[in-house]
Amino acid sequence: MKIGLIGVGYLGKRHLQQLLNLENIKISAIFDIDTITCKKIGSEFGVKVADNLEDLLNSVDAVDIVTPTSTHFEVAKLAINKDKHLFIEKPICTSIDEGRELVEMAEAKNLLLQVGHIERFNRARRSLDMIDFNPRFIEAHRLALWNPRGVDVAVVHDLMIHDLDLILSVNDSEVKIIHANGVAVISDSVDIATARIEFVDGMVANVTASRISLKNMRKMRLFGGREYIALDLLKGECEFVGVADEVDGVPDGFHPLGDLAVDDRRRVVYRKFLKATEGDALRLELTAFRDSVVNNTPAVVSGRDGLRALELAERIVTIIRDNK
Ligand code: NAD
Repeated sequence: MKIGLIGVGYLGKRHLQQLLNLENIKISAIFDIDTITCKKIGSEFGVKVADNLEDLLNSVDAVDIVTPTSTHFEVAKLAINKDKHLFIEKPICTSIDEGRELVEMAEAKNLLLQVGHIERFNRARRSLDMIDFNPRFIEAHRLALWNPRGVDVAVVHDLMIHDLDLILSVNDSEVKIIHANGVAVISDSVDIATARIEFVDGMVANVTASRISLKNMRKMRLFGGREYIALDLLKGECEFVGVADEVDGVPDGFHPLGDLAVDDRRRVVYRKFLKATEGDALRLELTAFRDSVVNNTPAVVSGRDGLRALELAERIVTIIRDNK
């Protein structure tokens, strides 16, 4: 697959490093409006630098768009008009209308569109797929140290959207009601936010995101009828804790943690760390993109997934705005 990388800033450079090490991918060219940086990176990594976007688009099967979110729409639209498959970093766009237009245009031309919700490829999230689990409520905390990058959008679109996508990936019910609040502490947009999202099927998610924290944390706890799962997305860990009637005992492969008494009934508590295969999330994400394009299979994180996460983020931001 011949690919062109558009945007070689902080994350684009990391994409480049991964793309260079993937089999069956040839980087035809890179392009960035910052021509000095682009030429520097081109010579550092030994890749061709396109003079303009048009030239890049004419030489590729697919594009990897890692430009600021506010530019995704215009860049992606040009690529779709030239019939190129697209990987677009998250969030898909700044507005739902733009995101929907891109998704519909790509679908009409049968082009693959994958959105960069990288946490789907985090080992902690992949480990969750090792069991059948139906959460009834979820607690998510994503806290980050202050970093001026990404402040062109609210923390909801920058950080919380990762957890919104993860939550939507384990529950496809419609959202019923949202309560949310947030404040702009340092930047001009919301820097810290919390939302309670109630789904039609009764599932509830409490989500908090901050980019002005004193420490980094990316944790999600999922509670089911008799199971509890703790994801540590920073460490890539997935801890499963379950409860069974004593007569049924601890399932094979799980470690007993103790037992609890309820009247004359006893329950056993057991635990296991679920471990999907190790792997760099960005490498897995771009590998999935290549495989979907080459094998003509659906994107692991589709344009519609990206749009759904963006729609939820927009609803949360609107509610926060109306709270003022
Ligand atoms: P950045 O500002 O470091 O880099 C963006 C680059 O794009 C810059 O070099 C800039 O010159 C270039 N650029 C701007 N407009 C362009 C255009 N029209 N054509 C070509 N190049 C253009 O930004 P970043 O932190 O690398 O973020 C890029 C994207 O990645 C954003 O959408 C951001 O939300 C996303 N992102 C995702 C994650 C994640 O966890 N998946 C993490 C960080 C950033």
